Amino acid sequence: MTSPSGSSDAPRPLLNRRLAEFGTTIFAEMSALAVRTGAINLGQGFPDEDGPEEVREAAVRALRDGRGNQYPPGPGVPELRHAIAAHQQRRYGLAFDPDTEVLVTAGATEAIAAALLALVEPGDEVIALEPYYDSYAACIAMAGGRRVPVTLRPRDGAYHLDLDELRDAITPRTRLLLLNTPHNPTGTVLTRAELAAIAELAVERDLLVVTDEVYEHLVYDGEHVPLASFPGMRERTATISSSGKTFSFTGWKVGWVTGGRDMVAAVRSAKQFLTYVSAGPFQYAVAEALALPDTYFEGLRAELGARRDLLANGLAEAGFEVYRPAGTYFVTTDIRPLGGTSDGFEFCRELPGRAGVVAIPNAVFYDHRDEGAPFVRFAFCKKREVLEEAVGRLKGLGR
Ligand code: PMP
Ligand code: GLN
Repeated sequence: MTSPSGSSDAPRPLLNRRLAEFGTTIFAEMSALAVRTGAINLGQGFPDEDGPEEVREAAVRALRDGRGNQYPPGPGVPELRHAIAAHQQRRYGLAFDPDTEVLVTAGATEAIAAALLALVEPGDEVIALEPYYDSYAACIAMAGGRRVPVTLRPRDGAYHLDLDELRDAITPRTRLLLLNTPHNPTGTVLTRAELAAIAELAVERDLLVVTDEVYEHLVYDGEHVPLASFPGMRERTATISSSGKTFSFTGWKVGWVTGGRDMVAAVRSAKQFLTYVSAGPFQYAVAEALALPDTYFEGLRAELGARRDLLANGLAEAGFEVYRPAGTYFVTTDIRPLGGTSDGFEFCRELPGRAGVVAIPNAVFYDHRDEGAPFVRFAFCKKREVLEEAVGRLKGLGR
């Protein structure tokens, strides 16, 4: 297996063996490249505009009123836990007890780490959909687990999961499935039928599931269905989400886990020794954000959907093969039709110089690097004029 993260790194002689393969994350590397070169950053997925003003004001009010300026309660402030439970009920008809079945975390990142540290025994196998978000591999390693990738493959303009491959990847040592839908970086949204099949497998093989649903509100084609809503899944599933994407405040790092009481108790045990608590005043603001009317969520989806179209169409016109995402912030492309290098790393390192744009090589999200080599990810959570400028620059590439 090769390193799933960045590569142009200084040596780290003191780093332990579990983490030896993990360099600097690709997001830090590529955002630094954007700053250094002044290129348009379509690499790291963060919006270039803040979320709703009333939510920002809610954070200011909380700070001024002295709410959350001292350690909030370990599981999160009650207002936010109630708002999360109400959101799950309203959107998906899922009932969670705000006191025992909801846990607030320092972003989805901490939720993923805490879930894996809590649930995985050293040597356990953890199945993750490849390409996978980079922190998955590092957290599986920190937990002493063994990652087993199941590869999503491009076909007919989108990435697909092969359910037979997933079934075949399960062994007696498999403890946990780590899923992500809508999926970063491919933009695939697992269908109801696929999720039903995964749920059946999890029940049949008695697996735990951690499902990362941070892009739950960013679905443009199809629908987001939480895995926890399928028969037999409620108690064995830790569902993770975050305010970063839904409310365009990625720096606040307010995330959460919902699940059965035993699941949340386990994750809470690990979480309390990671950060204990975080983001006090922001928790109150996110509680208000979750209660925004449906028009907010519909507006976000419509606006980002339009930006998806702008970027996906522009990339296609520039000569890329485009995998049109059904969800998320990201468009995955194949660079081979451009006629130059077919190595995404090389392409991304040269792109600021050639076109003044930064993107992410999908190979970093793979154990099987060859599978990801010619694919490159562009983020569209940027202002329309920024996307138009980037597309204009990229159109010069093929010439
Ligand atoms: N999971 C996925 C799939 C992501 O793309 C990201 C990045 N935003 C995260 C988790 C991390 O979320 P947070 O910023 O809330 O920690
Ligand atoms: N989730 C964001 C992405 O995929 C990046 C988050 C991070 O920088 N770790 O671009």
